[in-house]
Order: sequence, then C-alpha cells, then structure tokens
Amino acid sequence: MVLFLVGLVFAGVWGEREMKVKVFCPKTQLKMVARDVLEFYEVQDDYFIGAVKERQYQQLLSMGYKVEVLVLDMEEEANRNCPKEDFGRYHSYQEIMDTFALIANTYPDICLLDTIAVSPTGKYVIALKITKDPTVENYRPRLEWDGTTHGNENIGTEICWFFVRQLTENYGSDSLITYLVNTREIWIIPCVNPEGLINRTRGNSNGIDLNRDYGYAWNEESGADVPWSQPEIRGFRDFFQNRPFVMTMTYHSGTTSVMWPWSYSRIATYDSVAHSQLCQLYGSITGYPAYQISRGLYESQGTSTDFYYGAEGALGFAAEVASGQPPPQGQIDTICRANWTASKQWMIKGGFGLRGQITDSLTGLPVKRALVISDPTNWMVCTDTCGWFFKYVLPGTYTIKVMADGYETKTLTGIVVPNDTFVVVPIELKLDTTAPITGYKVTTWICKSPTGAGNTMGLFGLFRRDNRAFTLTARGMAVIEMSQPIINGAGTDFTVYSTSSKPCSVLVSTEWNGPWSFCAYGSGNIACDLADARVSLANFIRLIDCGQSYDLNAIEGTITNAPALILESQTVIDSPPGGNGDGRLDPGESADLILALRNAGRVAANDVGAVLHTDDQYVAVLDSTADFGDIMPDSVKSNFSDRFRITAALETPREHSAEMWLYLTGTGYSDSISFRVIVGELRMIDPIPDNSEPPLYWAYDEVDTLYSEHPVFDWVEIRNIGTRLNLGDDETRQVSLPSDFGPFAFYGQSYSSISVCSNGWIAPGYTSANMQNNTTLPNSSMPPLLAANWDDIDCRYGNNVWYYYDTTGHRFIIEWDSVHYYPGNSMPWDKFEIILFDTTLAGEDGNCKFLFQYLTANRPGTSATIGIQDHTKTKFIQALYNGSYHRAAAPWISGHAIKFSTDQPTGTFENGDIIDPMKLKINFLVNPVKDRAILGYTLKQVADVLLVVYDRCGRVVRRIDFGKQQPGSYQINLNLTDSKDKRLSQGVYWAKLMTGKAQATAKFVLMR
Ligand SMILES: [Zn+2]
Repeated sequence: MVLFLVGLVFAGVWGEREMKVKVFCPKTQLKMVARDVLEFYEVQDDYFIGAVKERQYQQLLSMGYKVEVLVLDMEEEANRNCPKEDFGRYHSYQEIMDTFALIANTYPDICLLDTIAVSPTGKYVIALKITKDPTVENYRPRLEWDGTTHGNENIGTEICWFFVRQLTENYGSDSLITYLVNTREIWIIPCVNPEGLINRTRGNSNGIDLNRDYGYAWNEESGADVPWSQPEIRGFRDFFQNRPFVMTMTYHSGTTSVMWPWSYSRIATYDSVAHSQLCQLYGSITGYPAYQISRGLYESQGTSTDFYYGAEGALGFAAEVASGQPPPQGQIDTICRANWTASKQWMIKGGFGLRGQITDSLTGLPVKRALVISDPTNWMVCTDTCGWFFKYVLPGTYTIKVMADGYETKTLTGIVVPNDTFVVVPIELKLDTTAPITGYKVTTWICKSPTGAGNTMGLFGLFRRDNRAFTLTARGMAVIEMSQPIINGAGTDFTVYSTSSKPCSVLVSTEWNGPWSFCAYGSGNIACDLADARVSLANFIRLIDCGQSYDLNAIEGTITNAPALILESQTVIDSPPGGNGDGRLDPGESADLILALRNAGRVAANDVGAVLHTDDQYVAVLDSTADFGDIMPDSVKSNFSDRFRITAALETPREHSAEMWLYLTGTGYSDSISFRVIVGELRMIDPIPDNSEPPLYWAYDEVDTLYSEHPVFDWVEIRNIGTRLNLGDDETRQVSLPSDFGPFAFYGQSYSSISVCSNGWIAPGYTSANMQNNTTLPNSSMPPLLAANWDDIDCRYGNNVWYYYDTTGHRFIIEWDSVHYYPGNSMPWDKFEIILFDTTLAGEDGNCKFLFQYLTANRPGTSATIGIQDHTKTKFIQALYNGSYHRAAAPWISGHAIKFSTDQPTGTFENGDIIDPMKLKINFLVNPVKDRAILGYTLKQVADVLLVVYDRCGRVVRRIDFGKQQPGSYQINLNLTDSKDKRLSQGVYWAKLMTGKAQATAKFVLMR
C-alpha cells in the first residue's frame, strides 16, 4: 500500500521513527538533502527513494518538496513482516545461536564456529568457517558473506542460513559443493547486528548505523563522533586483520541491486572491470541491476565495502535483495535460492586468478607482511600469516610486484592467467638489510571532504617513497600500520615524507585505536623522534591534517638492532591484609604489582633490572625494585617472583589515574616506560568528574552522601511567583541575570546573561541555538550547556518555562513547569528546574555551583541528555544519554537532584577521621589560625616520618622530614609557609603524613 500523506500528524513518538519516502527532488539538488537521508534505495533524475527519520521528512516538506510516503513506519513494517514475538518464518537471534552451534557440532570436519564481536548489550556476533579441516591453516582463498548489518534487513540472515545448510548438508554428495568446501575457506556471518535484529531496528542498541562506522573514508554519518565507535565493527576490523579475503558480500534490503565500491566517491576502483563483471554475473542470475554504489545510489561514508576494499584489498560487494525491510515471509525462499545460485558462481570464481606463497630466499620461511600488486589492476593484496596471497583477476597477462620490509622488491612479468582457473606464483625474496620499515596498511582514514579527495587512495601512502601521495583531505586523519614496530634509537627514528610542503601532526601508538602520544608537528617531510613522544616503540602512526590536505608519500622508519622492551600487561594483587582481593588498587589499599615486559626489538635484553617510581600525589611505591633477567626477542617476562609494592592514599579520588615510570637497565641497555595505574572504580555513590585533568567540575547527586557536597532535594516552586517566558516550540530566549546576582562563573568564564531553551537546557551567555535533538556530549555545534533534560519538549503544552531571582537565597531559578514531550498533549510531561547560585556561594576557585532538581519522573530520560559542557566544547560531564547512565550517576526518580560544583570530593576523611591499615592517624587539633596549625598523629612503631603539604592542584608546597621517630603521640606546630618561607595564600590544602608503611591525609582550609 502506498500512502500519500502531506503534513499529517501521526501518533507516537515524533522524530525517531524511520520512514521510507519517495522525494520529488531533482538530482541536481540532492546534495542539499543527502545528509538527512539514512539510506538511498533509488536515485533518478527527478526523484529519489530513501529512508529518513520523521524529522527529516518534515524538513523535506518544509523545504517545499513533494514527498510520497512509501512506508510510514519502517520498524512497524519490520514487525509486520517479521513479528518481534516469534519472528514467524524468520529466525530469531536465539535460533541463530542455537542452530549455528548445532551445525558446527554436527559437521566438525568442515565447520568451525567463532565469535568475532560482542555487542554493547552482550550479544554475540558469530562467524562460521566452512572448509575441509577447519582447525588447521590450509592456504585457501577466503570468501565472506554476511547479513543483517541493518537489523530490520534480516533477510540477509536467512540467505546466510540457507548457504550454510546447502554447504553442510550436501557436502560429500554434491560434487560441486564438495569441491568448493575442499578448496575454499568460506566464512558466513549470519548477523552483524544482533541487537538491531532483536529490536527490529536499523541501528544497534546505541542507535548507530553500523554500515557508517567502518574506519575507511569515514565522516560522521554514523551519528557517532569517531569511526570504529561500535564493538561490533571493531570486531570486524580485528577479524580481517591478518586474515586477508579475496571477496566479501554483505546483504541488505530496501531495493534490489548488486554493487561494488566506492561508496564514498565516484572515482573508479582499480579493480572496476572485475568488480563490474562479477556484479553483472550476479545480476544476470538474480535479476538485480549492477552498479557502483556511489553512482547507482549516492555517496555514503564509513561503509563496509570501502573498508574491505580500501584497507584490506578484498573485492568488497553489497547486495540489496528485496524492497521490503525485511520482505514478506512468503518471499524468503525465492530470495535465498536466487542468491545461492549467484553466490555459488562467486564461490567458484573466487578461487581463480593469482595466488602464491612469498618466502625468504635463504631460510624458506614465509614472509608474513608483504604487499602484492598485480598490473593491471594495480591494487594491493596482503599476505596472510603463512605468506600466502590470493587475488581474483580476469584472464590475461600480468606483472606482479612484491614488496616487503627488509627485502628487495621483486617484479615478475608475463604471468598468464587463463580463463576459469588459477596460477600459482611462488615468489622468493632476497634480504635487504638496508631497507626501511614502512607503512603496510591504512587502518583508519577520516575523510572530511570526499570531493576534495580527488582520486587519492590509502595505498599511495604505503610502502616506500614513490611519486604518488595519499592526500588526507582537509582536517582528515589517517592511521597507518607499520609492517614492524619502530624502535626509539638515537635521533630520528622515522620520517613522514610528503610530495608537498603542507603541515601535519604526527602521533604514535602501539595499538591501532590508541591511546596516542604526540610526536611531531611539521610541514612537508617530517623527521620524528619517538623520544619526543616519550615512548620506546610505535606500531601505528596517526597523521592529523591541519586543514590543507597533507600529501603523504610514505613513512619510512630506521631499522634499529637493539632490544625494545614494552609493557605487555599489569596485574595488581591486593590480597588481605592491606587489600580486599578484587584485583584492583583501591583507595587506602596496598598491593603487589606485577608487570610483564615484551621484547619487541631484534636483540636480546640481558640482565634487566627495573626501578618503579611515581610523582603521583596519592600513590606511593613501597617496594620499587625488581629483576627481570634475560628477555629474548619476541618473548615476555614478568616480575611475578620479585614484585613491586604500591599503595594508594585513602583520599585518592576514584578512577584516579596515576602516572608511573619504570626505569629499565640491562647490559648495554637503558630505557624508561611510562604507564598508568587506575585507583578504584567509581560507584553510584561517588560524584562524576568532568574529563579535565585534574577534574574541575563534579556532579554530586542525592545518593553521594559520603561527600560533603552532596545535594538534598529541596524543590523550589516558582510558578506564579517568577516570570513566565511563554516560549514557543523549539524556542530559545535570552534572559539577563540581575545585577545583584552578578555574573555566572562557569569554567572560568563570566556570563551576565543566560539563554533558556524550551528543550530542557540553558546556555550561559547568548545563543540562538534551539536544538531539540539531544546528542552525546561534548557536542561541538552546541553552545556551553547546562542540560537538565535535553529532549524534544513542546512547552506550549503544560505550563511553560519560568524564571525567578531569589535574592535572599542567592539563587536564580529556571523551572520547566509540567511541560509535555513533543508533540504535546498526548505525550507525558515532566517538572524540573535548574538553580544557579551566585558568586558568593561559588566554589573555592570562584566557579559557580548549580543544581538540577526533578519533581517528577514521568519519562525519566529514555531519550534525553543530562549533563554540562564548557565554552570550548571539550570539557563535559554526561550523567545520562538516552537511557544509559554514567556508572556514577543515580537514576532519575521523583526527588532526584544533581549538584555541580568545582569543590573537590571530600568527606570521609574530613574532621581528621582517617584510619589506615597501619592505624596511622592524623588530625588537626587546632585548625589553621593565621599562619599556624597544630597537627596530631600517633605512631605504633618506629618509623621514618615525612610530612608533605599539597595545594589544591596537587603541587607540593611544603615538605618536612622528621627522620626516625619512636612510637607515641606527636603534635606538630605547623608554620603555614611554603618552602621559601613565603606565606601560603588562602584556600584548600592537604597535609599528607607518610611513614615507610602507611600514610594518612587531612584537609585544611586556610583563611586570611
Ligand atoms: Zn541496509
């Protein structure tokens, strides 16, 4: 049924529903609306068919386009064709899990079940490997099929299921199938997005479109801030790493087509002839039209096909197999059969072309990380862990170029590939000890301006310098995986070469997804020293473009014949006494620390000794030395039998990250490694820190009663007392703060006015922003933000928004009075307020405190954001986003209160009430008066006693070494001056008393 609706009001939640629409928008105007379209199904000169959210539908109407609604509610369609309760003839997540396990158990000689990812809510993404003797490496061409990346397109799961049954049940009886299973390695991934399948939604449970989350030519279309944001897709990256595929196919539905990359750009792939011929073949069997994704539909970024082809060298494909999402149950069988017949042809073709093993000419050992380029097509494939490569090419005569670090590049010419078969080309490489370490793979490419990308390719930035450049695009970013780790030696360790003189920042890491250490900034060719990044080794280089489209020619690293020790893992043993045995260092605990070191260098590290050190204000090292003995190249050793011992002060903020240094010495070797120990874990009863280091603002809620800053819910009703703003829908109004109230100080900025938005938030200062679509924080397109309930609220329904200045209470109150969620009367309402306190009640550093209070909880945050962000849009607290709470956030119930304050968490140890495991006790007998304070403590045994006074930023201002003291009670008459005898300025200080085995801390406030 085709509905024709224009501007009609629907029931249900507005804005979130996905619709399938036909929009009469000329192709020439498509660019203007393309960002709002979730997926295109058909693009013609005068119209397109696509999936849009209801909001975008409204927007298209308001832009004057005629819009025909083909499917009013795609989730409803998904439910109708595949009922959520029993899935009808479709298979549920549980059935997939059970049956695939059963198949793997029934056919162990040809099946192996693997898990490649776990979804945000703990659902498995499984992969079934089908090949003869699946538990051993077989050097067979790898082929992959997957389904249900979009949860409502689960016809893909049915197709995968059908393939698995065909391949297993007919193995041994059907000669073609037997041949395929014996000679190919076939991977079937029935459901990329288990949560979407279960919930009948396009995205996963985080609402992210997984087919926009892949990190090649990525650009924010997923709805997330970064590529690889979802665990499902990070799992795919890891699955493909070191497991090169010849071809991959991903199934979708919504229209019918079979397609090849690129998605992000209309430039042709180097394999475009093979790409299109294979799609023509597939289309001739299924009846699907064949085209390049970007040309047949529209450009989209962060897709699976671009990642498979661009980063991994596999011929990536995608097929849309029916117009329904999913299609009616009666069509399942026909669709499965057609795709099976076509895919069987691909399984045959996938074994044709070029293949061979690359080996070392002297040792005969496989060369694991070689790039193989065949001309024509000039695109790369990588060798697997056994040195094998497989490349599908059309019949013809080829030249093969093989490139590997540490070897001479080898070129073989005149290789003839006949029709419908494969040729084996064994290749021996000669060592070249002068060859540099080079880039081997593009792990991530953020491409902010695909039109500005020209015909650049990630491949152009790999291996050694040539005349080609990989252009990052303006404000783009790329992560290049090196074929071997670069080791910190004397001077320059690697050089980033460019074909032009534009600027770029260089960061390094040992992990593909960071954390990143800044190494260098420069223009053109950039010489980099790992010492500048304070790391001893790097496997991944991250280049961040500075706005001028850096042209990466190559990254070349020096081969260093030296040991390189890196920290492989850390283990905390906190058994009693002194610890609670949870494997974590908690505030007030002492624990053993075991470090495992890996030698990633090319030479053994002999007689390795280590000294552990920290300057952290909360963590101290009790036993700082350990011996590691000899560590051979590529092996790991720990100090299990000679452990370090560390301790954390009781007042350590939870999740405090303490920087530790390990100084290593060995025969002819010395280095230092920095790493972090995390103390404790935030509990719901702890405040939430912002992300500054150290934290500036903290969010205390009503359950954080251990802390003196915790709020007590105390509703202030200002209805009919204050001023009613009479805001319209999605309206923001500026309100000047009364001069008596003074400025509102927030993150060091002073604001004389605030902007109040109907959608549950205020912005300090002036903004015309009126965003109803809440997002995660920080959000760079939003102003500084105090979001009490950022959601789509229509305050024309209910009693609108009020403000009131309570002079005696030193507070300014903004109340959303019983306002309804969009679209109004039929929706629930909530009553909540924001209370700003003036500067007389500010925190110790002068920043204002403020409070969110919730009188009702009629729709407690299921689609809202609660949190704050500063004017730089980088510092933030997110207590809640769309139903998921920060681990330290209390739930929104009636009577919920959150107080934001820059006063640091104190409480449990205020009033001098600290008792640590060694019964060391410190307290202020006389609180500071003018320049003196009297401090008392008791020693149970002889100890060396040290007193250190810190300011609120953790800087040491005073240090007194009392030397050895006998057991007994002591009083210290403390002169409140710093080490230069200068009087301390007023504020908060910490006195920390330390003995060899214990420490205690007390806070004091100095007033003048
Ligand atoms: Zn799809």
